[in-house]
Amino acid sequence: MSDSLYDVVIIGSGPAGIQAAIHASRRKTRVIMLGRIENSALYGAHIENYACIKGVSNGKDLLETGLEQARHFGAEYSPEDVLKISQTDTLFELLLENGRQIQSRTIIFSMGVSKTKLGVPGEKELSGRGVSYCVDCDANFYRGAVVSVTGNRSAAVDGALTLLDYASHVYLIAQNLDVSEELRNKLHNSNVEYIASEIVAVKGENAVQSLQLANGKHIESEGLFIELGSKGALQLATLIGVMLDSESFKYIQTNKKQETNIEGIYAAGDIVGPPYQMAKAVGEGCVAGMEAATYARKKRKSESQ
Ligand SMILES: Cc1cc2nc3c(=O)[nH]c(=O)nc-3n(C[C@H](O)[C@H](O)[C@H](O)COP(=O)(O)OP(=O)(O)OC[C@H]3O[C@@H](n4cnc5c(N)ncnc54)[C@H](O)[C@@H]3O)c2cc1C
Repeated sequence: MSDSLYDVVIIGSGPAGIQAAIHASRRKTRVIMLGRIENSALYGAHIENYACIKGVSNGKDLLETGLEQARHFGAEYSPEDVLKISQTDTLFELLLENGRQIQSRTIIFSMGVSKTKLGVPGEKELSGRGVSYCVDCDANFYRGAVVSVTGNRSAAVDGALTLLDYASHVYLIAQNLDVSEELRNKLHNSNVEYIASEIVAVKGENAVQSLQLANGKHIESEGLFIELGSKGALQLATLIGVMLDSESFKYIQTNKKQETNIEGIYAAGDIVGPPYQMAKAVGEGCVAGMEAATYARKKRKSESQ
């Protein structure tokens, strides 16, 4: 098997991803789990409603133990985000934050849910009139314009770099950046203007005109992309055609085997909808891991015939 080819790629290392990694790697498949455990909703939580565990457990400890278990069963782990996914005739291709490209027979989405709103004055009023939450969807509307992106993780940095192909000038506004060294270097070597501050208000009459920053400055900007969190979980899925639930369009739709509408793609945990509970995430991760491994093994066998 080529060095970059996996049977199962698990995007997300919270309880859903970890359980999927444990079950998939015990089924003689090559598995890699991606994403930082520090970004799991569980990391800062204290759990006392998870079966078979006495008292209150610290989320960070649970995640570290789970990661150790997954590795023990042979799963590989890389604490980095996925930036892009595409599909060839036979495989899925993923571009990782560190610049590496990998291929896989199956994918499990377990990226949880992330905060999307900034919660500052003007944001709601100007939403759809200069305020956008998806660079990949709306970049084209900002050809030749001065635009800004806010967010401190891979979604924002990748978004700002993407916008360079469209806009006349791109600002990235964030107090600090929590991305890989490779992505940070890519940003510093680009024409994106990084401002270490926070947006406190979005200004404009009928469309975004300027942004007020916490450092007291105002910047002229015709658009504001709010890209909080890691590379947009739902964007990654929908851009390759994964269907969302028909009621809220906020969650990935799956059946009882955690299969999505695309063969070989599964989803588990908060990303498939509430209740947002560790017990549910783990249960769905278990099913997704087993199903993805079974599918990948069948696929591998048919490839060698
Ligand atoms: C304060 C708080 C208290 C809570 N208390 C409880 C409780 O008492 N009981 C309970 O059962 N539940 C509780 N929860 C909920 C529980 O933590 C979640 O339901 C659970 O963590 C969901 O697991 P998940 O694996 O679906 O997602 P998460 O745990 O959120 O993990 C998501 C993972 O995806 C990764 N990721 C995201 N985007 C990308 C990308 N582009 N590329 C690679 N990786 C990516 C992240 O880095 C992270 O590793 C609490 C949550 C919070 C915030």
